[in-house]
Amino acid sequence: MKVFKFGGASVNSADAVRNMAQIVKNHLESETLVVVVSAMGKTTNLLEKLVPCDNGAPASCRQELRQQLEDYHLDIAKSLIPNDETLVTKVLDLLHQLDTTIHSLSSFHFPLSTQYNYCYDQVVSFGELISTTIIAHYLNHLGINTLWLDARQLIRTDDHFREGRVDWQATQEAIDKWRAESGKWKDNNIILTQGFIGGTNSTLSTTTLGREGSDYSAAILAYCLDAESVTIWKDVPGFLNADPKFFADTVKISQIPYNEAIELAYYGASVIHPKTVKPIQNKGIPLYIRSFITPEAEGSSVGDYKTIVPETPLYIFANNQILLSILPRDYSFIAEDNLQVIFGILNELGIRVNLMQNSALSFSICINNNPQLVKPLVERLQHMFRVRYNENLQLITIRYYTQEVIDSIVAGRPILLEQRSRTTEQLIVPCQ
Ligand code: ASP
Ligand code: MG
Repeated sequence: MKVFKFGGASVNSADAVRNMAQIVKNHLESETLVVVVSAMGKTTNLLEKLVPCDNGAPASCRQELRQQLEDYHLDIAKSLIPNDETLVTKVLDLLHQLDTTIHSLSSFHFPLSTQYNYCYDQVVSFGELISTTIIAHYLNHLGINTLWLDARQLIRTDDHFREGRVDWQATQEAIDKWRAESGKWKDNNIILTQGFIGGTNSTLSTTTLGREGSDYSAAILAYCLDAESVTIWKDVPGFLNADPKFFADTVKISQIPYNEAIELAYYGASVIHPKTVKPIQNKGIPLYIRSFITPEAEGSSVGDYKTIVPETPLYIFANNQILLSILPRDYSFIAEDNLQVIFGILNELGIRVNLMQNSALSFSICINNNPQLVKPLVERLQHMFRVRYNENLQLITIRYYTQEVIDSIVAGRPILLEQRSRTTEQLIVPCQ
């Protein structure tokens, strides 16, 4: 059995869905294909704006967004299968459920971020529910036997809303049980399910796995089903050595060792979700990254390789960074006791440190400049420390660097901080 994952861009219009269906059709084999699908296009961003919260969008704006959501999905559904009342009704039913959900959550107040996170998952998950409902219906219409599955029944998490942590044992049991009971499994060419969403093991409340989490869903299912491979269909030809948005002459990496893929995702390479590699590495399942625009082309594979092929520098650019320097007020050393306090605050606020460095009198951290997090962080640190910061910075990571490569990337900009290991150079410079 193979697992395919299609992200939002691969199903963002009726033509895109037709293309996706063709890819699936070309790969139908004697065995079932498990297909994991994200919300269509930018639907998740739109749904985020509909999550009720104390300082949310005004009612008129919400109404307009809600209408946009309906028009967008109905246009795609009607273009895929004209005059199909059943499909239109299915989509409208889901939108109605969404309205009821929003309405019932609107009485909440949000003094606690956990309450907001709960509401977020209940609302945002509709993107995947609607997209998979339309696509499953369309594939069946094309004569491809497709079974729609509710991922919330299978992917079991704790109740950490917005970042559900997978309960592997419960997930494995739910999948095994479902497989044993479901005689239908074999009668279907395709099992189609949602990426990104899961259900709490305690009460089966909807959770999400973190933004861009559909890759991770594909990896979880592949792990629990002992799949032969996972293929992520993307709008790029494979794993590139840099983001084409920032870099003109990208090189496609055809082979990537698992550990390299984990390192790259950790440093912020956006091609796959950071949690995706671990489960498939643990079972030695290969991961293919292929283009849905040129589906016949080979793409990249992540697997049990020794080195990347071809060997070339790899670049990761993270913009909108802020560098905080934290200094004790009384000229005491930055030692373990101070670090413990600083990390305690970072951990409580859920802030990820992208780079850190310390000297006797200061500790510097580079983090994403998210004002909602940076403001409370600075306020809390200022109780004990002096805090200085530089904004509008870029964090550049270069794996397999040469001095020549570093010089050309820095292009004369002042370097605020630099760290170098045998394989990796990291630099903080002002944004260009
Ligand atoms: N739809 C979700 C998001 O946009 C999950 C995904 O696309 O992977 O973050
Ligand atoms: Mg996506």
